[in-house]
Amino acid sequence: MTKIYCARWVLPITDGPIRDGAVAVEGTRIAGVGPRAEVSERFPSAEVEELGEAALLPGFVNCHTHLELTAMRGFLEPEEGDFFAWLRKVTASRNERMSSEDLYVSAAWGAVEAARAGVTCVGDASDSGAPVMRALRDAGLRGVVYQEAFGPDATVAAGQFDKAREKIERLRSGETPLVTLGLSPHSPYTVAPALLEMLTRFAVDERLPLMMHAAESEAEQALLTEGGGIFAAAYALRGFAFDAPHTTPVRHLASVGVLDARPLLAHCVRVDGEDIRLLKEHGAGVAHCPKSNAKLGHGRAPLAAMLEAGALVGLGSDSVASNNVCDLLEESRFALLASRAAGETVAGGRALDANDALRLLTHGGASAMNMRHATGSLEEGLEADLVAVRLDAAHQTPAYDPAAALVFSSSGRDVLLTVVAGREVFRDGRVTTLDEEDLRARLLDAARRLAGAA
Ligand SMILES: [Zn+2]
Repeated sequence: MTKIYCARWVLPITDGPIRDGAVAVEGTRIAGVGPRAEVSERFPSAEVEELGEAALLPGFVNCHTHLELTAMRGFLEPEEGDFFAWLRKVTASRNERMSSEDLYVSAAWGAVEAARAGVTCVGDASDSGAPVMRALRDAGLRGVVYQEAFGPDATVAAGQFDKAREKIERLRSGETPLVTLGLSPHSPYTVAPALLEMLTRFAVDERLPLMMHAAESEAEQALLTEGGGIFAAAYALRGFAFDAPHTTPVRHLASVGVLDARPLLAHCVRVDGEDIRLLKEHGAGVAHCPKSNAKLGHGRAPLAAMLEAGALVGLGSDSVASNNVCDLLEESRFALLASRAAGETVAGGRALDANDALRLLTHGGASAMNMRHATGSLEEGLEADLVAVRLDAAHQTPAYDPAAALVFSSSGRDVLLTVVAGREVFRDGRVTTLDEEDLRARLLDAARRLAGAA
């Protein structure tokens, strides 16, 4: 059966905006995109849904998040400003106070929030693995769950590697066409170079997409470039020395072969011209997480320079523990405003604009995740991942230009409809795939346990 969605504006992203446009969906795929009259004529027996004063565009791609930490929204404010204490509290709270079921509920609530905000595809870095895959399957979202691996002590690299490999082998059976597995050596400062090499080779052999946090904090930079700082001190207390490469995080990843695997790198705040050149040359993806970086005081990635160099850049909310929302429209607005506040420009002295932001949200994210074969634009033959955003609310009226109205005036709360592979996962104000009321109660229970009140 064919269904046609019509709206005042259709924004295919790889093509110009279409006034009074339509998108036809057949099964899991997009069967046609164009002016309403044309699409209706091509599919005369299709069911037609009129979305009115709204924009239809490709589903938003959230390249970097940690859905299992959704229960920690607002939980870590006291630790902000001390990244080391922040990381320690995240890890300890997750490991000691959250059961596997809590992690599922937390991830499922994160998936509810994402679907409500028009996110159709997520790049999730997960320590728990199975609960997050289950949450994405239940919510009906598309995603890659990058299983995390840690191990700064090179003397135990072989054992850590075996653990990671076993975890991946166990999780393989949970893959579906929409939810697949990846591998995430956590970061250059928490994974010894020897272990990083082993994990990278494994990912390449197993055709697992690779994701890492990289060039995020000053502390990371101090450890990698000088072998000093807070992480070096902490590792010394644990009785081992980190094998520092004495170069930037990105150059380090190039030299151990990570960049050859076309990884997705979250953050890339501390990158210079040579680092950006390396990212572009290797076709590595960047998950730009401007709100998380700002909130944790890590600084701001050179967005315009990365785009100008032709790097593949998408947006990530990071976990809601450091954001505190998964709202990609808001993320794109923040990315743009922060870029302009810094006075960045691209060719010809042009500041980034709303069309650049919409591209980051969709095509850019899909490219960074290496998923352009499936999603990132409205084009015939691609998977039917789409979102409709209303444009007639008080805070959006008048809307002269749909791109500007979306990026500068709208938020995830204006989303009317979210469709993943042809399936409506959010419509009429409700997530259709999960019992939101039941999940809310269970999430609040988990939050009480996290806070130590139960
Ligand atoms: Zn992260």
